[in-house]
Amino acid sequence: MDLYSGYINKLIDELASLPGIGAKSAQRLAFHLINMPKDKVNRLAKTILDAKENVRYCSECYTLTDKETCPICANQKRDHSTIMVVENSRDLAAYEKTGKYEGVYHVLHGAISPMLGIGPGDIKLKELIKRLEGNVTEVIIATNSSLEGETTAMYIGKLIKPTGIKVTRIASGVPVGGDLEYIDEVTLLRALEGRTEL
Ligand code: ZN
Repeated sequence: MDLYSGYINKLIDELASLPGIGAKSAQRLAFHLINMPKDKVNRLAKTILDAKENVRYCSECYTLTDKETCPICANQKRDHSTIMVVENSRDLAAYEKTGKYEGVYHVLHGAISPMLGIGPGDIKLKELIKRLEGNVTEVIIATNSSLEGETTAMYIGKLIKPTGIKVTRIASGVPVGGDLEYIDEVTLLRALEGRTEL
C-alpha cells in the first residue's frame, strides 16, 4: 500500500532524481512545496521554466548565460588572448570570485572519462580548438585534479602543443580529487600563479 497519494509520490520521485537530493530530502521538500502558498509555488515553477527557456551557452566560452555572449567574453578589458579551460560553470565562478584572473574562459561541460564512456567528442573540445584559430597566446588548463581532470588536461595538452600556443596546467596545490568550486580563493590563486608549462 502506498503511504502517500500518487501525486505526492510522483513529486518525491522527481525531486529525488535531482543531484544531491536523497529520498529523505525529497520527501521533506515535497511536503514543504505542498504546504507553500499557491502563488509562491507558481513563482517557483515559472522561475524554473524561464531559466530553462532563456539560459544558453555563451557563443564564445560556452558558459551558461542568457545573452549571446556572457559578460566576461563581452568585456573588452579582459585579456582575450589567455583562455582558462575549466570543467563547468561553477569552476569558472570559483576563479571569477578571486577577482584576480583577467583572461577569458572555456567551459568544457565535463571531463574525459573512459570509465563512464565520456570521450573527447562529448565535451566542448572541438569548440576550444576552433577558438585557437583566433589570437590566443596561452591556454591554462584548470580542470580538476581528479583522474578525469588529469586525463582531460593531458589530452588537451597533447592536442594544443603542436600549434605552438603556450599550454600551462595549474599547480596541484589543489588537493587530488578536489572539486575546484570547494577550494578557497587563496589556494586557487596559488594554483594559478604556480602553473607550469606542459
Ligand atoms: Zn563567454
